[in-house]
Amino acid sequence: MPNVRFLWIVLAILSTACLAQAPTPEPVTDPETELGQAAYNQLKQKGEIIESSPLYDSLKPIADAISRTAQPQYTHPFKFILVHESQPNAFATPGGNVYVVDSLLYFVRNTEELAGTLCHEVSHTIHRDGVTLMEKEKRIQRHEIEAALLLGPTRAHIIAIALLGKMHSLGYSRDAESKADVTGSDICAQAGYNPWGLVWLFRDFQQADSKQIPQLLSDHPADGARIQTIQHHFRDNASTFSKFSSDPKTAKPFNVPKNASERFLSPGY
Ligand SMILES: [Zn+2]
Repeated sequence: MPNVRFLWIVLAILSTACLAQAPTPEPVTDPETELGQAAYNQLKQKGEIIESSPLYDSLKPIADAISRTAQPQYTHPFKFILVHESQPNAFATPGGNVYVVDSLLYFVRNTEELAGTLCHEVSHTIHRDGVTLMEKEKRIQRHEIEAALLLGPTRAHIIAIALLGKMHSLGYSRDAESKADVTGSDICAQAGYNPWGLVWLFRDFQQADSKQIPQLLSDHPADGARIQTIQHHFRDNASTFSKFSSDPKTAKPFNVPKNASERFLSPGY
């Protein structure tokens, strides 16, 4: 038989809690979280977010190791989210979310190439490159604002649309890219992944047919200068990097299920 007095106490506590929460205050977050959440909402609205898939099992061990290593350098929790887009790619928004396009998992030749890409993206977040990009972008494209206004979004939403647009075109400067390569190499080395993976990936791109070069390259122009900067960093910090082999034949294969099923997050409103 239920203890009626106990139930009343529970109800009293619950109702007090509810009363205490009402009126719901505007959640006070910092601009990075707000921008990151708006970007997430936009991707969700477009039906790109993959809620569940066996692909997460392949991604998770690498993502976890990188998060553990990189987290002390950033105030918000890192989270890796699979998305479905037309070209292999990865991008990070302010607030800690790192988006990995499902086809990237099939594009990379080994674990180190994927780890290198993720370390690079996490570094953009640590360097707050997305925030800088938006601060520079004083004048957001008019058509982007008009398109956004039709949906009645908040300003964060408008900026998020612009941010995602920028990230899918030539967003960051060469300098920001090189800095993300260098920090990314440090993170990968510390997390136990051979940082040569990023160099191998760039070389794969350089050798690829220009029509087959995925968007990742247009986001991350892989000219020789970037590879040189990374190698220079390796030489300058031999105590950290000399233990890693530059030979791609030493790479660990990355196992990913063929034709993995994917369940998408309902857009909702
Ligand atoms: Zn980049």
